[in-house]
Amino acid sequence: MALNKPKIVVLGAGYGGLMTVTRLPKHIGTNDADITLVNKHNYHYETTWMHEASAGTLHHDRCRYQIKDVINESRVKFVQDTVKAIDVQNKKVTLSQGDIPYDYLVIGLGAVPETFGIKGLKEFAFPIANINTSRQLKDHIELQFATYNTEAEKRPDRLTIVVGGAGFTGIEFLGELANRKPELCRNYDIDESLVRIVCVEAAPTVLPGFDPELVDYAVQYLESKGVEFKIGTAVQECRADGVTVGKKDEEPEEIKSQTVVWAAGVRGHPIVEEAGFENMRGRVKVNPDLRAPGHDNVFILGDSSLFINEETERPYPPTAQIAMQQGETVAKNLGRLIKGGQLEEFKPDIKGTVASLGEHNAVGVVYGRKLKGTPASFMKKVIDNRSLFMIGGLGLTLKKGKFKFF
Ligand code: FAD
Ligand code: NAD
Repeated sequence: MALNKPKIVVLGAGYGGLMTVTRLPKHIGTNDADITLVNKHNYHYETTWMHEASAGTLHHDRCRYQIKDVINESRVKFVQDTVKAIDVQNKKVTLSQGDIPYDYLVIGLGAVPETFGIKGLKEFAFPIANINTSRQLKDHIELQFATYNTEAEKRPDRLTIVVGGAGFTGIEFLGELANRKPELCRNYDIDESLVRIVCVEAAPTVLPGFDPELVDYAVQYLESKGVEFKIGTAVQECRADGVTVGKKDEEPEEIKSQTVVWAAGVRGHPIVEEAGFENMRGRVKVNPDLRAPGHDNVFILGDSSLFINEETERPYPPTAQIAMQQGETVAKNLGRLIKGGQLEEFKPDIKGTVASLGEHNAVGVVYGRKLKGTPASFMKKVIDNRSLFMIGGLGLTLKKGKFKFF
């Protein structure tokens, strides 16, 4: 048995981290290296489903699974702990329960909500980020509805939900919330016409950069479900009693609301920034082989990384699609780094983008083809199931997959 095997430490069991550790045993023999995976929770959650858990249209348990169920425990040691710091000089990671040394590090800690320093957002707005934030937002909305009828003086702000940002996260959440509204109103004896769902988007259009015909379809559909859009309007401040929003050069407007949802983008995990890597909004512009510049033994993938699209000369948007593909490249490149061989350059294979608009509607472009309505919604579920299959095979797909296609 080889002594002093190199130590590979993978931080984060998200899409990037899990793809790395499920593929690593193919590229590295038992005697070549020790592999450790560190994650805050003992479960992986589907970040891409958090709009459903947040609106309460899918139970949060449906959106997560145990990490031990998808890794090969004879090859990958799982440590449930929170990463506190990364010390690249001394090649160690500080966890809440002590330090672990590494020879090779893979950072897949994901992203955190970007608040752009806007006053009050951190304190008062609800992000759509993980199981804990989703559970909290869903329960908070229900509490507002439940409280409405208990008070002598009825407060419209309890039934007003403001969503900041109409990127993919904001639009997908609005689709779920609009679908849930009738059930919420039935459960809490509230007239549907009293509920106000307002989306505030700073850009001149929702889903900036997406196909204009599909954007129109999405907006019309959501408006038909009662969503109000304020386009070209930025959230300027958030308080306990609501938000201030405004268009450039116009008087700001106050919207009273007990539920402000912040879906206006993400930045890389702060631990990566704090470790001293050069970064842009917390994301490290990685080399083509996915290593951090100047750190030959550190790979960074997923939302913690930034990878440039050579055609547009702009970064690829952070997606699970890319994180998973990067995981495969990182596993292969670690194998080559340890056993010898030339490292591969990461080549993203973007198959398309689909945004759901509730359970049975969606818009998307897949392999260059525009889709809307049922075909798009069908495709979205295929994509969700495919990601389960890639990480946990048929068993996980059958257990957690989405099969209610119509
Ligand atoms: P993540 O999957 O976020 O995983 C990070 C992991 O690190 C988590 O397990 C977390 O618990 C762990 N972690 C974090 N901090 C610590 C710590 N300090 N210590 C230990 N562990 C820690 N992308 C798509 O391609 N398609 C979609 O349809 C899509 N839909 C989305 C819908 C929503 C509502 C959102 C919010 C995002 C969506 N995305 C989608 C984007 C996608 O979810 C992210 O790009 C993807 O999750 C990034 O993967 P990752 O591996 O970098 O990080
Ligand atoms: P995003 O950056 O894509 O969109 C954020 C939106 O918020 C933008 O339209 C921006 O103009 C707006 N905004 C910013 N500041 C604002 C302000 N002060 N007031 C009002 N609006 C403001 O972020 P996201 O939607 O959270 O998505 C994050 C990443 O996850 C993206 O890469 C996205 O592609 C990916 N994602 C993909 C899917 C999918 O493929 N179905 C779903 C969700 C998220």
